[in-house]
Amino acid sequence: NSFMELNISRPLLRACEALGYHKPTPIQAACIPLALTGRDICGSAMTGSGKTAAFTLPVLERLLFRPKRIHAIRVLVLTPTRELAVQVHSMIEKLAQFTDIRCCLVVGGLSTKVQEVALRSMPDIVVATPGRMIDHLRNSQSVGLEDLAVLILDEADRLLELGFNAEIRELVRICPKRRQTMLFSATMTEEIDELIKLSLTKPLRLSA
Ligand code: AMP
Repeated sequence: NSFMELNISRPLLRACEALGYHKPTPIQAACIPLALTGRDICGSAMTGSGKTAAFTLPVLERLLFRPKRIHAIRVLVLTPTRELAVQVHSMIEKLAQFTDIRCCLVVGGLSTKVQEVALRSMPDIVVATPGRMIDHLRNSQSVGLEDLAVLILDEADRLLELGFNAEIRELVRICPKRRQTMLFSATMTEEIDELIKLSLTKPLRLSA
């Protein structure tokens, strides 16, 4: 029951050690091996369960071993609020600190111009709130999701509660069909089930 047994490579093990993570939380132990197979995952997980590292570690592992052919956004993480986006972005930067994987934050309330420059420099991972991400995709020809490999819907129940249904549907439409999708939600409602049907393919269900 260690991160090493989960087949996480050295730079990521070092980051876990630096963060004081000695062993995986239950959601991490369940999610990481499955996510590494590339399957779609839907997880019921609360904040505090360690779900951010549960989806970030396999994503970083994938980026380390499948270097991109061109500079492009490979992973998009959608969160319901700016506060959560800031937290997730900071967690990803800490877990990626011993790699050259770059992550950028795209949220309302920050300068659009500054974010545009950050997006044009083609980070590997973008953590965004849905509205602001769509603004950038609509208004900038230099920002696209053609090479996206992984889509993550974090706190999907809150994404829907906050009225982002249409935005998420639009973003899912823009993403390539061949991709891995992971969805996390504290509660599983009918609306979430609809979103799962729309955006995930034969998902594995986890709860922790
Ligand atoms: P989250 O549920 O992703 O918001 O994470 C909740 C808190 O648990 C964060 O402060 C993480 O830094 C911490 N955390 C995540 N994974 C581990 C772990 N394996 N060991 C100890 N703390 C962890």
